[in-house]
Amino acid sequence: MAARPVPVTAGACPVTRVRDGVGQMPEAVAGGAERHAVVIGGGLAGMLAVTALLGHVDAVTVVERDRYPTGHAFRKGVPQARHLHVFLSGGLRALEELLPGTGRAFTDAGARLLYPPRDLVTRTVVGWQHRFDERRHGCLSVTRPVIDGVVRDRVLRAAAASATRLEVLEATEAIGLTGDAGRVTGVRVRARRGGGGRTGEAGPAERSLRAALVVDASGRSSKAPQWYAELGRPAPRQQTVDAGIAYATRMFRPTGPAGAPDMGINIPGWPGSPRGAVYVPVEDGTWLLTAAGIRGHHPPTDDQGFADFTATIGDPYIHGLLPHVEPVSPIYGFRDTANRRRHFERSGAVPEGFVVLGDANCTFNPVYGQGMSVAALGALALRRTLDAGGGLRPGLTKEAQRAVARATDAAWTLAVGADRPFTSGPDARAGLGERLSSWYVQRLALRAVTDPVLGAAFRDVLCLTAPSFRLVAPRLVLRTMLLPRRPGLSAPPTAVVPLRRAA
Ligand SMILES: Cc1cc2nc3c(=O)[nH]c(=O)nc-3n(C[C@H](O)[C@H](O)[C@H](O)COP(=O)(O)OP(=O)(O)OC[C@H]3O[C@@H](n4cnc5c(N)ncnc54)[C@H](O)[C@@H]3O)c2cc1C
Repeated sequence: MAARPVPVTAGACPVTRVRDGVGQMPEAVAGGAERHAVVIGGGLAGMLAVTALLGHVDAVTVVERDRYPTGHAFRKGVPQARHLHVFLSGGLRALEELLPGTGRAFTDAGARLLYPPRDLVTRTVVGWQHRFDERRHGCLSVTRPVIDGVVRDRVLRAAAASATRLEVLEATEAIGLTGDAGRVTGVRVRARRGGGGRTGEAGPAERSLRAALVVDASGRSSKAPQWYAELGRPAPRQQTVDAGIAYATRMFRPTGPAGAPDMGINIPGWPGSPRGAVYVPVEDGTWLLTAAGIRGHHPPTDDQGFADFTATIGDPYIHGLLPHVEPVSPIYGFRDTANRRRHFERSGAVPEGFVVLGDANCTFNPVYGQGMSVAALGALALRRTLDAGGGLRPGLTKEAQRAVARATDAAWTLAVGADRPFTSGPDARAGLGERLSSWYVQRLALRAVTDPVLGAAFRDVLCLTAPSFRLVAPRLVLRTMLLPRRPGLSAPPTAVVPLRRAA
């Protein structure tokens, strides 16, 4: 089967082509592997990895097992895309640095910018947060297909304007690495039957793409540990902390003003109330309602069960919205939500020529909304490593992987610290340091509900714009230790509180 050049999205750049299958070696590869990179997975992290590589290599080949949809539509390879995806301000800043103008492109595509707690209010164990008029963190609310479509389009445009040649092999699956225990020299790929070329058509035989650098951005289903075994390498050390959360999500359209409050609503679970829900506006006047619960409290995916579940979370507000909205989608479930980190950055854990980004490196419990931001921060870390040392060079992958790990640390510490109490077995054991820091963060978080100073500092960390050690700045420690714990509001706040009055 000859490769068929097709544009990746309607109106995409003419010079960047996407090819189906692997019947033909991309021109970029035919010339040699010295300055050629292969990216496994053309999702968010994969596309951002391409951006990081532009100008540093002669050619990049993206291997994506799906075929991209036309427009902003769901695709099978990213099953979590049915669920609420908030892009935190820390990730958006990284994205803007990688791809200037993307924030504007999101809002042009209908995304809403929500500034917590002004536009996204949380009900906590001590009551509702005050709605301080704080605008430190614009977080993006839009459906995931829009995020992926906008980013892909902008990456293709950036590639078209760059000296690096980009080719995307759609419907092509990476099935292994080439090389040996010390060095990765390429990727073994094959066309995907059914999901790949025309349905049911047998793809051409497996073949290899040679590369000086391989980036694994194949998401949570990454096979890197198995591929390591085939190269004769031990798997990287893996840590898992699983709170056993499951999601159920449905899209709604308000039937009147009561179904469209002027803020998003977040009612997370807390000890003693293991069920929660989030209701946020997305594009085209629609809203997403995601319900979540820990083991034994998973939200049902049938109409009645889903509605009944919202009546059992820690506050009746979201359930009370249901008479004022109509469903415009089925209810989708999702269960694989563990925090899982593979420590590729540890000494000797990554062979030369191989870097791991995004969910392939670390997945998070999605309730903290961190995964996409960490993918963007990781890609930025890769780009800065390439910039700092003048591109591909010996030792790059070790350096890059450490930089990616540093970009991951803050989110990992937060997610694991918060989830540990909901785990059991060996996962449940936290060291003294983690227990102390969890106790302190918990104490600070409860005071942040009513205190704008602690609230602002806490949001800086939650939104991944500041490292968590900032929370132990002397003035914050004093406030955390000395301020009494005040109850939050008993009902969702309607009025925004000017910051000067609050402080
Ligand atoms: C229910 C849920 C809700 C979430 N909510 C949020 C949120 O609110 N905010 C947030 O920031 N994050 C959220 N996340 C996390 C977010 O979805 C991920 O962090 C993000 O998708 C990571 O991007 P990625 O490119 O690494 O992986 P993915 O987006 O999963 O992309 C992986 C790509 O690799 C391709 N692929 C896989 N295997 C192969 C192969 N062998 N060969 C070729 N291609 C392959 C896939 O088809 C896909 O295109 C959520 C996750 C879940 C599960």
